[in-house]
Amino acid sequence: MVCSPQTKQNSALFHNCWFLVKRPHEGRFLLHHPERVPDICINLAYSFHLMIKPETIQRIIDTVRIEEVIGDFVSLKKRGSNYVGLCPFHNEKTPSFSVSPAKGIYKCFGCGKAGNSVNFVIEHEHYSYPEALKYIAKKYNIEIEEEEVTPEMQLEIDERESMFAVNGFMSTYFQHNLTETEEGKSVALSYLKERDYRDSTVQKFELGYAIDQWHNYTDHAIDNGYKKEVLTKVGLSIDKDSRLIDRFRGRVIFPIHNLTGKVIGFGGRILSSEKSTAKYINSPESDIYNKSRVLYGIYFARTEIVKQNNCYLVEGYTDVISMHQAGIENVVASSGTSLTEEQIRLIKRFTPNITILFDGDTAGIKASFRGIDLILEQGMNVKIVLFPDGEDPDSFVRKHRSSEIEEFITKQAKDFIAFKTNLLLDETVGDPTKRADLIKEIIQTISHIPDGINRSVYIKECSTIMDVPEQTLMNELNKRLRQHFKKQPENADIEITDIETRQSLDEQIKIDPLDISENEKQLIRLLLLYADEMITVFDDEEDKEIQMRVDDFILKELHDEQISFTKEIFNEIIKEFGEAREKDNELAETHFTNHPKAKIAAETINLLTSPHQLSENWKKNKIFVKQEEDQLSFLVLTTWLSLKAKYADKHLKEILELMKTSPAEEIDMLINQYNTFKKISIQIHSELTRVISY
Ligand SMILES: [Zn+2]
Repeated sequence: MVCSPQTKQNSALFHNCWFLVKRPHEGRFLLHHPERVPDICINLAYSFHLMIKPETIQRIIDTVRIEEVIGDFVSLKKRGSNYVGLCPFHNEKTPSFSVSPAKGIYKCFGCGKAGNSVNFVIEHEHYSYPEALKYIAKKYNIEIEEEEVTPEMQLEIDERESMFAVNGFMSTYFQHNLTETEEGKSVALSYLKERDYRDSTVQKFELGYAIDQWHNYTDHAIDNGYKKEVLTKVGLSIDKDSRLIDRFRGRVIFPIHNLTGKVIGFGGRILSSEKSTAKYINSPESDIYNKSRVLYGIYFARTEIVKQNNCYLVEGYTDVISMHQAGIENVVASSGTSLTEEQIRLIKRFTPNITILFDGDTAGIKASFRGIDLILEQGMNVKIVLFPDGEDPDSFVRKHRSSEIEEFITKQAKDFIAFKTNLLLDETVGDPTKRADLIKEIIQTISHIPDGINRSVYIKECSTIMDVPEQTLMNELNKRLRQHFKKQPENADIEITDIETRQSLDEQIKIDPLDISENEKQLIRLLLLYADEMITVFDDEEDKEIQMRVDDFILKELHDEQISFTKEIFNEIIKEFGEAREKDNELAETHFTNHPKAKIAAETINLLTSPHQLSENWKKNKIFVKQEEDQLSFLVLTTWLSLKAKYADKHLKEILELMKTSPAEEIDMLINQYNTFKKISIQIHSELTRVISY
């Protein structure tokens, strides 16, 4: 049995870690200090979905310094109390990415991305929430404590984990075969060298080689303690007359990674020119490998896809690898299968833009047209690059320099609909029937685009290319759209006459004259920013002006008026403020921007970074507003009063509505209620006017 010291060491280490993590420690799983535990173990624990204890999360949030976390990825310069740098989420030459250590948040004024430290790690590294927490914990040497999961959950996790484990173990073994065995070196490594693959590329993609024998790696895995059932479950071994044989024999191995970099399956390319065997074979589907949900190379491409805000889609493993080697890293492959909806959604997590790179074979392109309609349906933008006849991305990239490749792609990239129209138009010359069919087909494609404005743009463009009046195309499109809607029962009663009407309908729905959310937002924003500052308010009972903390004022008023916010998140924030004040605690805004509940964190970050509505309104009304802090009493009071006024108005309207349907005997009571509220409303409005003119 061939086994390098490296492999042996990894395997032993792996088993130790396995034991360490699996051993219950006083009723819970205890993961040791990150610095003292090898990485492999931490990665293993990541996927356990154990619950990190709330106390640990709190410790992480209390310790983290956002400028230090982001500083590991972005070069930051101090400017005033903030830091600025080039945004890692979009391409820019002048910095519009700002980090506020005081608030514990970042915001890009170019692309609008904003968040706290944990969000940043999630966005930038595409980690899950627990993975991001663990990353930060490791950086600050914080011990992670996790809570136990149920035995049933554990069983399922164990099974999946053992599948990942055997794949990982095997991937290492295949790599060893490629570079350390005579057979690997002479057969496979020489083939990869012929393709000009650098050592670093081979290592990055963890390329390997399966020895040309029937029981080679299966026996090796069993000798190292891996179970037969797991080997067949992941499809590495095939059960033949109750003896396991190797699925991959004499093949270059391409491991397929999931988003977090774990090996979920393998592709194997035969090297002999034997015609009887398939050129490529793949692992069969398993609990951890679902072909329709995986894109080859996504693990290596994700960060660059976000950065370039574009994803190149190619056909095969070697296209991906060659392009990476040429420095173009935002590239993935659908690996032979036609593109699925799940794959498209996977790309959409990172960018709305796809550029498909085709080799020069027209038949292949036409076959993929349906798949592209699927992409359009997801509201994504599709461009097409056609390589010269006889070239695929792999061969083209190997013949040209990086700069030439990029120039070629940029120049050749054509919008999908224009590309399709042009390609098919050539075939319709002198054939009116074919031409009519083409128009229908293009309109069909355009009808898949969810956005009305985009549809109109394409109609215009096609009208020019095909020399058909725009209105004719528009009529055909509306016919299609109506068919789409008829297919969906919930839209059955909507009659679409044209796109414009439909759009203005959408607009109308959005505007609600009694919308109080802006006022609620403003009040919460003031509370978050100035909770512990003092304001001057008039106390009716004492009949004099008194000093009060902003949080105490808002909490008291909400309580006295029995008002709760229409947005549940705001009520949760108020509740936490209330509880903190009862214990005489202070809640800093960082408590909320780093809140364990992602929704609360997102909402507060949004509030604290968006330009606030109120002062804009004051400006419109030509009321001069000094620095917000100087005007705090004024701001808090007017915000509160206008919110109260809107609540009263809303209630008045509700009473009026009720009157329309109520029986006669209840009308008197409702009129009474209405009058009472009307008085309150007038009172609030006059108070508001008094405060503003004061
Ligand atoms: Zn940005």
